[in-house]
Amino acid sequence: MKPLQDLVRSCIWNLTPYSCARDEFKGRVASVFLDANENPYNNPFNRYPDPLQEELKSKLATVKGVAASRIFLGNGSDEAIDLVYRIFCEPRTDNVVAIAPTYGMYAVCADINDVEYRAVPLHEDFTLDADALLAAVDDHTKVIWLCSPNNPSGNALDRKGIERILNEFQGIVVVDEAYSDFSDAAPFRLDLDRFPNLIVLNTFSKLWASAAIRLGMAFASEEILALFNKVKYPYNVNQLTQQQALRVLDDIPHIQQWRRTLLNERAHLLPAVAELPVCRAVYPTDANFFLARMTDASAIYHYLVDRGIIVRNRSRVQLCQNCLRITIGTPQENNALLGALRQYRPTPAPSL
Ligand code: PMP
Repeated sequence: MKPLQDLVRSCIWNLTPYSCARDEFKGRVASVFLDANENPYNNPFNRYPDPLQEELKSKLATVKGVAASRIFLGNGSDEAIDLVYRIFCEPRTDNVVAIAPTYGMYAVCADINDVEYRAVPLHEDFTLDADALLAAVDDHTKVIWLCSPNNPSGNALDRKGIERILNEFQGIVVVDEAYSDFSDAAPFRLDLDRFPNLIVLNTFSKLWASAAIRLGMAFASEEILALFNKVKYPYNVNQLTQQQALRVLDDIPHIQQWRRTLLNERAHLLPAVAELPVCRAVYPTDANFFLARMTDASAIYHYLVDRGIIVRNRSRVQLCQNCLRITIGTPQENNALLGALRQYRPTPAPSL
């Protein structure tokens, strides 16, 4: 890895961050708070939340096996994705390299930040092409984006390939593991000591069933974490979200139960879809969704919408022609989908 200072935008490296009122007295006991221009009434919502979410991070540290000092929390993983650009990529000068197809926000945030985005296709079967990714790198490449299990293909990327990229690329490698709870692959967040250039993303939105509270995690070295904390909005995770997240972490057995149910449903739904006449192939998945290549994805998508069933039409995405991305739902929802697909009849072409 290059020295961190060479990877970080100079305006960020030299930034004096905003200092929160609560940060300044930290570590002392107090009961009269006249420092932050809050209204003294309407407790507890009158007070600014903990800017560094320490109680939540200390619980997460136990659950995730990562030191609290290496955890960043943001308004969804999307906040962490945007921060990566703002910390490392000089607009109109630097570039990033990413697998394709993958999660759309990496490219959207590149556009918003005016950073060149180099999309490098996966192999036809959606496996990682580490050679092609490394070949796309130049002196201005600051970040490589990997997503494993990948959205929309569902497969976990080959660990050896990811490790090779982490070892050979001199910049930052982000491994988005939003769906890793559904995979048997060992998570990369446990390898931060081996890879100083690694940032791993996790989220409360998938297995932890809390998309509405908008809470994402990034795991990285203390040095990279300090940069995230410098650039983030001072109170980026609100009090309601912190409280609800603590509640979620108090009931891990419930989460494990959801996992078992969803994996069981996945094991039933995939082969059932695969054998439908409208399905050409389903791709192996390590996530709570799968990609299915259909006879006519757009027609089937609209047919399902008319029946109140919404899947994601990925037909226009690279390598995904005629593909639907289907999330694993409850047994009832999955049966509704299967029932509708079984009844589907293509509209005959009009006779001339
Ligand atoms: N990463 C991946 C791979 C995703 O698919 C998604 C959302 N679908 C996200 C991140 C965003 O997660 P969050 O809700 O935490 O912003």
